[in-house]
Amino acid sequence: MTNIFKRLSVLFAFAIIACQPNAPKEEAAEGETIGNHIVVTTSLLRDMLENILPEGEYKIESLMGSGVDPHIYKPTRKDVQRLREADVVVFNGIHLEGRMGEIKDQLAKKQRVLTAGDAFNKERLINSSEFEDGQDPHFWFDLSMWIDAGAHLSEALKELYPHHSDVIAQNFEQWAVSMKYLHRDVEQILAEVPSERRVIITSHDALSYFARSFTFKVNSLQGSSTSAEFGVKDVKDMVDFIIDNNIPAIFPENITSDQALQAIVKGCEKRGYELKIADELYSDALGEAGTEAATFEGMVRANAHTIAEALK
Ligand SMILES: [Zn+2]
Repeated sequence: MTNIFKRLSVLFAFAIIACQPNAPKEEAAEGETIGNHIVVTTSLLRDMLENILPEGEYKIESLMGSGVDPHIYKPTRKDVQRLREADVVVFNGIHLEGRMGEIKDQLAKKQRVLTAGDAFNKERLINSSEFEDGQDPHFWFDLSMWIDAGAHLSEALKELYPHHSDVIAQNFEQWAVSMKYLHRDVEQILAEVPSERRVIITSHDALSYFARSFTFKVNSLQGSSTSAEFGVKDVKDMVDFIIDNNIPAIFPENITSDQALQAIVKGCEKRGYELKIADELYSDALGEAGTEAATFEGMVRANAHTIAEALK
């Protein structure tokens, strides 16, 4: 063998080693069949994929169930095992899964990992100092963004499952239309809330995208992550804000305790202002099975009714 051939064959061997175990596999290799077991992080993603993938053909599991807070969720050893055994793993991304960054990097070396948030450039995301990269991850409440996240994942799934690409494309189109109708319905439900009352106060800012879409303002004690602390000064500032703006109600969420909100209600009471705690909003997780909010569409509709009822 000549020197040049020796060098080339060594280089070639290195290239094979370098490409094999660590390169993320976004497409199915020729003739390769990828298994149908998909693990997603949040219940919202599970709902989306159940709509997009052909019915009965895939096993779609959500790591976090209803009412689970993704910002502080730490996977157990069993969860890590479940992720490792999956054929495809889907994350929300943009640091929603705040304590899963390391495991995500590990998984991406060996498994197919898709990220819904990769659908967006920075300009489309809302800035938030609470997160590592300075962006708010709750984009699902802007339904046009949820559609685009669905389009991004659909494209990746069509590559992975080419034999289902037509069904995935059809299902995506239908789902996207239902999301557009949902946006219109939410606008109608909220139409009875006058502009001066369009302020949503929650314990953490999950609704900034919702506010941008439906012309509301949001305010919260903890910013957009539930892992942030709040202090006496935060409560006092919030009480001032509520009284100055004559706000009738504030909203608890299904993923956080309402301890923060109770402190605000007491602060208002001391100053002779009656503030209501409205019904619970669904923020980062779906509601329990069997309830209206057990689907994404139901959850968004339930939130719209709750907000309209409390603020109209
Ligand atoms: Zn959140």
